[in-house]
Order: sequence, then structure tokens, then C-alpha cells
Amino acid sequence: MPLPARYRGRFAPTPSGPLHFGSLVAALGSYLDARAAQGEWLVRIEDIDPPRCPQGAASTILRQLETFGLAWDGSVTWQHTREGAYQTALERLVQLGLSYPCSCSRKQWQRYDIYPGWCREGVCDPTKPVAWRLRSDLGQRPIHWQDRLSGEQQFDPVALGDVVLKRKDGLWAYQLAVVVDDAEQQITDVVRGLDLLDNTPWQRQLQAALQLPQPRYLHLPLIVTAEGQKLSKQNLAPALAEDEQGIRLQLFQALEALDQAPPKELAFEPPATQLHWAVANWTVTRLRPTAHRQTPASIASSTSSLTPPSSTTGE
Ligand code: GLU
Repeated sequence: MPLPARYRGRFAPTPSGPLHFGSLVAALGSYLDARAAQGEWLVRIEDIDPPRCPQGAASTILRQLETFGLAWDGSVTWQHTREGAYQTALERLVQLGLSYPCSCSRKQWQRYDIYPGWCREGVCDPTKPVAWRLRSDLGQRPIHWQDRLSGEQQFDPVALGDVVLKRKDGLWAYQLAVVVDDAEQQITDVVRGLDLLDNTPWQRQLQAALQLPQPRYLHLPLIVTAEGQKLSKQNLAPALAEDEQGIRLQLFQALEALDQAPPKELAFEPPATQLHWAVANWTVTRLRPTAHRQTPASIASSTSSLTPPSSTTGE
């Protein structure tokens, strides 16, 4: 199916906590790529896993985007309202013989690297709750696509295994939800962090199976700690600035992390001025194809003021 002619991008955070510098860089990259193409930029809150999403985190994220001047088009999409669409897609895959119920527990197949597909020809234990998996051995192989930064990508889905689409606890898995929503929102360009590159084969596989358009992909370098770990809530990524001066500096540093070489004086300008410059000068080919960028020292040093949460196990 062809892509719509007009560029449509999106930022799709999981509201597991506030944005940090790494997620700001991903949001900024997708925003600039869309605006430089005179396209639309949408926001989708990926809140399909309520235990992972503390109350208030989504509204904090939206407020942070506004503070950094990243204005989105239209209304925000919330994945928790989209379950009917995920169910319809799953039913279609079942009809096509591409999805099957699976009662196996991880413990049962732990000596294998990937799930060996025991339930493909019938549920092993019909008395147990089931997850729904995608058959990796049927359909198009290998999967390939062009990443705008990392270049030609090729994967054999069989080596990746039968991914879960719906969990045993009834929650929808990211892979199915993201594909259904990208298609529904007519996304032409997915711009996101490099940590999601290895999820893309499953998403391409699902798009092919459901005969959905296949967006273009750009996976941006990841922001890491001095120890090389991806910034996350778990490693106490420092919160984004809330004061005017800090916001200006961090937006500027995010442009630097995207290798856009902003002129130094821009660091003192308000977000609107910085973004105006950045949209006019956005150049994907400036991105160095190295996977990581270190957190700027001024941001990293604010971690030292944080104390790790006390252990709940008493250890
Ligand atoms: N919700 C995912 C995350 O926050 C991103 C999904 C995507 O951009 O495809 O990591």
C-alpha cells in the first residue's frame, strides 16, 4: 500500500516517567524532521501497560514538550482508547493463520534463545491462560528496509522468533499497537531512538501481514551515561530543566547531540528562536553514524544531587 504524499511524523512516548535528555533528543529529532519537510507532527501516548505508567507522567511529558516549544498538530492519541483496533488486527492475523495462542511460560523454554514455537500447531496446555504470538516462519523472509541513518537492514524473522502480540494478562504488546496506530495515523516517517532499531523487523513483518503502508525509518543516536548506559529512569537520568535558562541550554545541547552544529549564541535564545533556526537548517546527513552521544556534562552532573531510591527488599 503506498504512503500518503504528505509527511506525517510522530513522537510516541511511553509515559513511564518524565522526559529526560535522551527522550528530548528523540522528540526534537522527529519534530525537526517533520517541520523541515513542512509535514505534520503528532503525539501519541503509548500507555498500554498501566503498571508501567505512573499517574500524571503523561501530562508531565506533554507539559515538557510545550515548555521546549515542541508544539504538535491535532489532538493527542492515547493508546488506552485503541484496544478495539488492536483486537481487530489480531483477529485478522488469526484468520490469516499468522497468529496463535500460546500457553508456554518463559521458564519452560528458558534454555532456548527464542521461543521454539511449541504451540504453533495447537496450544500445549489448554487449561492455562494464553498469550498470542506472531508466526515468524510464514510470510516474507528475509525482511529488509533502509534506515535513513544506519543504511540497509536485513533480518530473518525466524532468527527473532514468534513475538508476543497480546500478553497472558490481556495487555497489548508494543509491536502490534505501534503498527496499528502508525497506520491509522497515516505516519509516513518514524523517527525514534536507535534502541528501537531491533524492534523494526517485527513491525515490518506485521505491516506486511496486515497489508499496511510501510513508513520510512530514521533511528537516532542514543544518549548514554558516562558508563555507556542508555539514559532511563532506572539509572536515574536527571530530570529536564524547568527554568528558562536551563531550558534554553538543554534545547541547544539537544541540537548539538543531533550534530546540527548550532551557532553558539543560539544557546541563549528562547525555544521558538532556536527551533526556527533548527527547522531551517535541519540536515539529516550531518548526523554522524555512530550509535551513541554522551550526556552533556552540565546535565550529567545534576545526577549527583539525586540519591538512589531506598531498596524495598531491605537488602
Ligand atoms: N513508546 C516507545 C518508547 O517510549 C517508542 C515507540 C516508537 O517510537 O515506536 O520507547
